[in-house]
Amino acid sequence: MTLPSSDTLVSYPSGAVTGTGTVVHVEPLADGRTAVLLDATPCHPVDAGWPDQGPDRATLEWAGASHPVVDCVVGATDGIRLYLGAGIPVRKGTEGWVFVVAHILEGTPPEPAQTVTVNVDADYRTAMSLGHTGCHLASLALNRAVAGRWTKDAATDALGSPNFDALAIDTSTILPNGSIDSYRLNKSLRRKGFTAEGLEDELAAIERSLNASLAGWISTDAAVAIRRDGERLTDRRYWECGLTDGEVSIPCGGTHADSLGALGTLRATLALSDDAGTTVLTMTTAARAA
Ligand SMILES: [Zn+2]
Repeated sequence: MTLPSSDTLVSYPSGAVTGTGTVVHVEPLADGRTAVLLDATPCHPVDAGWPDQGPDRATLEWAGASHPVVDCVVGATDGIRLYLGAGIPVRKGTEGWVFVVAHILEGTPPEPAQTVTVNVDADYRTAMSLGHTGCHLASLALNRAVAGRWTKDAATDALGSPNFDALAIDTSTILPNGSIDSYRLNKSLRRKGFTAEGLEDELAAIERSLNASLAGWISTDAAVAIRRDGERLTDRRYWECGLTDGEVSIPCGGTHADSLGALGTLRATLALSDDAGTTVLTMTTAARAA
């Protein structure tokens, strides 16, 4: 069986939750499961390099039966072997490599050339999209709320605040209707000019300020769009939103709400903790959908 020679076409960036695809490759995995590659899919896979948004919940349907997709991951092939997730040895977009969406199934897989219908759990997708949009918005609000703590010029975000989120982020996890971001306030961040001193005392005020930004932006119900360079998995995609303070464009491979109003009441909570001597700031968001 030959491995695919072109990237999977993906329709989830435009909000699709159903679609048909042709099976281009079926790969038995060491754990007894199977990776099924289609020419096109609406199923969002977890990214290998920045796994913030987990896989969609979905089924593949063929010959009148529905089969659960137990996992959905990014894969890559050099035409010789298929590598999945963290096992991919090259960066996304590396020349000579093809990047694919791998639908992981248990049980008997479909045959190559078979047409299958992909059905994504729309409610779960909507909840993850709300969580992801809220996460982007909260990172901009946090950057603004801690802007006064920078003593040196730092790279700025789309709204002109020093980009604390990009410079300090350790992990980002998108949840249904929410997110958890963890920031390390380590020596390297302090060397770049961030002052962590007195943060604990100021934390409640920062939280109030960031929630005021969120409420203001959400009240405008600004449209959210995913702009993309093409339909291939590797084509660059951007989260774009016209906020009252300016147009924002952020590289992002995830799925999103159509407008900020969908976030309803989005609240962000801040907490400080200590990890072996390094202060960690955790921002948790939770949206109560409108
Ligand atoms: Zn994103």
